[in-house]
Amino acid sequence: MSLDTSCVIAPLGVSFFNTPNRPQDHNKKDHDKKDRDNKAMAKRIVDVLIPVALDHAYSYRAPDQFELAPGDLVRVPLGTRECMGVVWADNAAPNPRLDNRLKDVAAKLDIPPLRPELRKFVDWVSAYTLSSRGMVARMALRMGEHLGPERLQVGIRLAGPPPERLTAARRSVLRLLADGLARGKTEAAHEAGVSIAVINGLVDEGTLEVLELPAAPVASAPDPTYAVPDFTAAQAGAGAALRDAVRGGFSVTLLDGVTGSGKTEVYFEAVAEAVARGRQSLILMPEIALTGQFLDRFAARFGVRPAEWHSQLNPRRRARTWHAIATGEVSVVAGARSALFLPYADLGLIVVDEEHDGAYKQEDGVHYHARDMAVVRGHIAKIPVVLASATPSIETEVNVRRGRYRRLHLPERFGGAHLPAIEAIDLTREGPPRGRFVAPRLAEAVKIALERKEQALLFLNRRGYAPLTLCRACGFRFSCPNCDAWLVDHRFRRQLVCHHCGFFTPRPPSCPKCQASDSFVACGPGVERLEEEAGALFPGARILVLSSDLIVTAERMREELKEIAEGRVDIIIGTQLVAKGHHFPRLNLVGIVDADLGLNNGDPRAAERTFQLLHQVAGRAGRETGRGHGYLQTHQPQHPVMRAIVAGDREAFYATEIEARERTGYPPFGRLASLIISGPDRPSAEGFARRLAGAAPPAEAVRVLGPAEAPIAVIRGRHRFRLLAKAPRSLDLSGYVRGWLARAPKAETGVRLEVDIDPVSFL
Ligand SMILES: [Zn+2]
Ligand SMILES: [Zn+2]
Repeated sequence: MSLDTSCVIAPLGVSFFNTPNRPQDHNKKDHDKKDRDNKAMAKRIVDVLIPVALDHAYSYRAPDQFELAPGDLVRVPLGTRECMGVVWADNAAPNPRLDNRLKDVAAKLDIPPLRPELRKFVDWVSAYTLSSRGMVARMALRMGEHLGPERLQVGIRLAGPPPERLTAARRSVLRLLADGLARGKTEAAHEAGVSIAVINGLVDEGTLEVLELPAAPVASAPDPTYAVPDFTAAQAGAGAALRDAVRGGFSVTLLDGVTGSGKTEVYFEAVAEAVARGRQSLILMPEIALTGQFLDRFAARFGVRPAEWHSQLNPRRRARTWHAIATGEVSVVAGARSALFLPYADLGLIVVDEEHDGAYKQEDGVHYHARDMAVVRGHIAKIPVVLASATPSIETEVNVRRGRYRRLHLPERFGGAHLPAIEAIDLTREGPPRGRFVAPRLAEAVKIALERKEQALLFLNRRGYAPLTLCRACGFRFSCPNCDAWLVDHRFRRQLVCHHCGFFTPRPPSCPKCQASDSFVACGPGVERLEEEAGALFPGARILVLSSDLIVTAERMREELKEIAEGRVDIIIGTQLVAKGHHFPRLNLVGIVDADLGLNNGDPRAAERTFQLLHQVAGRAGRETGRGHGYLQTHQPQHPVMRAIVAGDREAFYATEIEARERTGYPPFGRLASLIISGPDRPSAEGFARRLAGAAPPAEAVRVLGPAEAPIAVIRGRHRFRLLAKAPRSLDLSGYVRGWLARAPKAETGVRLEVDIDPVSFL
């Protein structure tokens, strides 16, 4: 089979861009079967893409009164229902014989059309990721069903004489409204510290009147000159370079600097330039980093918070934000990865903060990497992209070294004096006693920190109490009935939980196998168990566990971060949640309880991820005092990752890791594609995986590995096998896989195939 490498695209390193080939996909053939005689056939035909799992667009007749153009949102009949779609293209060569069997577009929606740049992006992402175009378009159309007229807010204002009976609560309301201005009803109740019933009572008595207020805007206009920061020379230089970039076309700049180097304020300069030029900016960040702390920092610079886009927006807010972005009413969006697909009216800048973060990879539905796709969108829209990180991904680092991306390096504000001193604790020689997880040397350091009234962080990237519970009497282990995984003991919730499918069950009073009671043993550490140990080691210390499963809302998270910042906590015990850019001014000691976790899982990026995580966590210490200290508990003190962190030698880590990737042909020096086959039982999944492997087109440069049973062989009751295709960087692996799937055998009912181009997870 011949491979068309002329159309390769390269999110691993964006050196050239072309839209990959895709088959022509008008659905003419469907209608070609019968011959029909039609004379009155001058009507225009348009192809409408419908946001469902289909790759091709459907043709419809375009009634003249709609004046349809590509990008317009329409309602069209589909089967027995009507649904929303996007006019994707004019059908330039309609088949005159089938025209009068086509249905008419039912309505044109009063919503700004999807711009050509976004439609091109959808086509591109679909072709690259091998996801159906309809599903990719769906991400751009995720405005919910609430796009109707805006709901007016119920407001109240002073209108009549005071009531006969004046209570303290009523007085409080009257004081608030004494200025005669109208306020939202709930807002007024909140501000006056009274219940809605008090307000309603005053309305009934005629003291207050009800009126309708326009809905509050999604976000007010940021002021680029609101608070111009006081920069060091290095920051000012980087800021000016970014402003320049915003004045130009497509470019990719890596803003490389540790927390505390002023990275955020520097990329705010690029945002300020875009705002000043009347164009929109998108700041992408891992959802978990999109905190009040960040929004407040933005407000401190621009006077107002940006619009937010993340999974916790309620449907109405989502719809209004979507619409405000499409009309250009919103000028800056801070959002999680899905914000990349929004219909910006005039996008002028994309910033990808924490560009190395694994959260940018979407692992279900459309498998895409938002950092790479941000570069693609930037290229299509001819706008600058800024990637920010203290520990750039190997992909980005290589792109910088090869001159494809530019690097702006920010030195630490105080000349690096604040980098914590880091020591390794060799667990094979000076580990803690059995059943304990804090080594004596680390415990001693925590004690000293507490005596000095400083904070300490114990980092363990494991939620729950213990990763495994077994019966001492018979060896029974609690495992998930749906997955190939142990159940994690969550004592706080009093449940045994599966971290893969969410299955949970209370811990039974006795062993389900041998009925022994009090025979359960917890194996290994989780943050809850560490909390118990810290409580015993450091009596009287105020301990707070920061773990995503214990923090239900963003609001709760903000409160806890505030408690830490204000020094109301002595010991923080945290999972990777604490690594995400929060600033803890009183923290001087970081102990990494299991630095090896995540190193030995057969993942080509394991070393990189471990390095990034440990580097970030260790860097939390001593930001303000300059007396930071970190301890790494490890069984492998000689591992290049541990040595680089202890030595504070980032360059040594990149040199070793880049050399290893190049030698083994792993990304970014080669390309990977995963094919994940799952089925209701093992033989059906394995059988299809084997037939699929057998159908791989022979190509000298491509190696197809597997099928192998997935490391987590069963998830949610589905048996899983994996195939991995490995190819040189120059090869169009998406195109190869497309050709492969075209000749693949049909899967049995219930067997599913997922394609993951540039996979990040290998589980
Ligand atoms: Zn037992
Ligand atoms: Zn499970």
